[in-house]
Amino acid sequence: MKVLVANLGSTSFKYRLFNLDDPAEPVLARGAIDRIGSPLSRVSCKTDRGEVEATRQVADHGDAVQICLDQLVDPEIGVLKDPSEVSAIGFKAVHARNLTGVQLVDESVLQAMEAFNDVAPAHNPPYVKVMRELRKRFPKLPLVAAYETGFHRTIPEAHQRYAIPEEWSTTLGIRRWGFHGASHRYISWRIAELLGRKDLKVVSCHLGGSSSLTAIRDGASIATSMGMSPQSGLPQNNRAGDFDLFALPYLLRETGKSLDDVLFELAERSGLLGICGKNDVRDVEAAAAAGDVSAQLAVDVFVASIRHYLGAYLLELNGADAIVFTGGIGENSSLIRSKTLADLDWFGIDLDPDLNAGGPHERRISTEKSRVQVWIVPTNEELVVARQSQALLKSGRSGIA
Ligand code: ADP
Repeated sequence: MKVLVANLGSTSFKYRLFNLDDPAEPVLARGAIDRIGSPLSRVSCKTDRGEVEATRQVADHGDAVQICLDQLVDPEIGVLKDPSEVSAIGFKAVHARNLTGVQLVDESVLQAMEAFNDVAPAHNPPYVKVMRELRKRFPKLPLVAAYETGFHRTIPEAHQRYAIPEEWSTTLGIRRWGFHGASHRYISWRIAELLGRKDLKVVSCHLGGSSSLTAIRDGASIATSMGMSPQSGLPQNNRAGDFDLFALPYLLRETGKSLDDVLFELAERSGLLGICGKNDVRDVEAAAAAGDVSAQLAVDVFVASIRHYLGAYLLELNGADAIVFTGGIGENSSLIRSKTLADLDWFGIDLDPDLNAGGPHERRISTEKSRVQVWIVPTNEELVVARQSQALLKSGRSGIA
């Protein structure tokens, strides 16, 4: 089965085509179309047979998918005989009311996502818009939504529930849903392959544009740092993360701002950006090294929050076999990794400074004597979405919770 996995932005469409019939599950083609809606959209596609790049007008995401399908059957670089060989388009979807797992996208699924537009404002509205467009334009092509919350449904109730009135939880679905499920699921698979066993206690640290930690026992999520929305947990590049709700009425009164304005600032102008005016960890680290005190504070706040959850999960798991770093920051920032794991000898965690500093992208970075293995594992969320889409189509069902 061949599955196209799409990564949507409001004006971009990136894709990878997986061949899941081959045991190596190779990516047959990858491409990107950006600046959708402008006369100068950039279109690129790469396969084993070659590469094309062009600038042209792409009116909307429907056009973008059509261009992608044309590229896949292109006589020069194409990898398919016919677009109908694509069995489905899989999406890493974020959140939907009363829905999780993997779902075939129909109108009821889209409405469930719309019902949570407030909860995932950066993700749900563009996904719903594009999925509606694609359903109209390609009515025979199944669209599959693999929800980020799905991996966390194994979390025990005590960790999913907020201490709020019961009906808010049961009727409105206000609970700790957790996110980055595709990434944490991939880490749980990959670390089991790397260590040669499945009965593992793992803390997966996905640190990127947004970040979360997950405690994994025997391949299943048992606690995670994000809650009802992807705005919670660790501070993110530009989002506040955990924040005391009761600061809100005071903030509204003192600043005279509306709730929408304050929520916008918490979601877009807070996090590392709010503390030091920079939101890319590379820039924050460079400024801190040059003596910028607020940038140093941003690094310290970020690391303190990672350690807070790491400590909680080491307790929850009663120790760990492995700690895994992934995501743009987790994979690339030796500084954040070394600060996160400083002085943890009591826990049997001993980072090797040389291995931490450099080496192959996927590597162990703890010393031989470290009781807990520490790894960098590049994540592969698209493969997870492709496999989940395949499982759904093979099941013949419209959804797997
Ligand atoms: P997204 O969550 O948007 O998919 P990524 O997981 O790719 O993002 O992470 C992007 C973030 O990774 C950037 O904002 C940047 O802060 C961080 N990053 C990338 N490379 C480095 C690096 N060499 N050192 C530190 N941080 C990095």
